[in-house]
Amino acid sequence: MKKVKCAFCQGTGKDPFEVPSELSTCQVCAGHKEVEVKPPYAKCAFCNGRGINPNSRLSCSACKGHGVIPIKRPVETCPVCAGRGDSPGAHLPCLECKGAGVISKKEENTV
Ligand SMILES: [Zn+2]
Ligand SMILES: [Zn+2]
Ligand SMILES: [Zn+2]
Repeated sequence: MKKVKCAFCQGTGKDPFEVPSELSTCQVCAGHKEVEVKPPYAKCAFCNGRGINPNSRLSCSACKGHGVIPIKRPVETCPVCAGRGDSPGAHLPCLECKGAGVISKKEENTV
């Protein structure tokens, strides 16, 4: 596990929207200012690594507010969302890549 700066609160440990108050603890890192992510991972395309759901004041549903999504390497651009991480026409993470914008490359079967 690797510790990365909490994307949702930008490493402040406080709720970025000050909900319910400016003293609120970040709901993603619980005030620890960083979160543990299992490498390898890719930046979350759905929230552009911000950890914030683009359509609400909640943590990103794709990366759980971490800003990154664990994904096996090598990766390639998701063919469904073209790397944008969202479902076309819906404010939801892409079902194919789960919001990462990239998918694990399928093992070439050379048999
Ligand atoms: Zn946080
Ligand atoms: Zn995200
Ligand atoms: Zn996708």
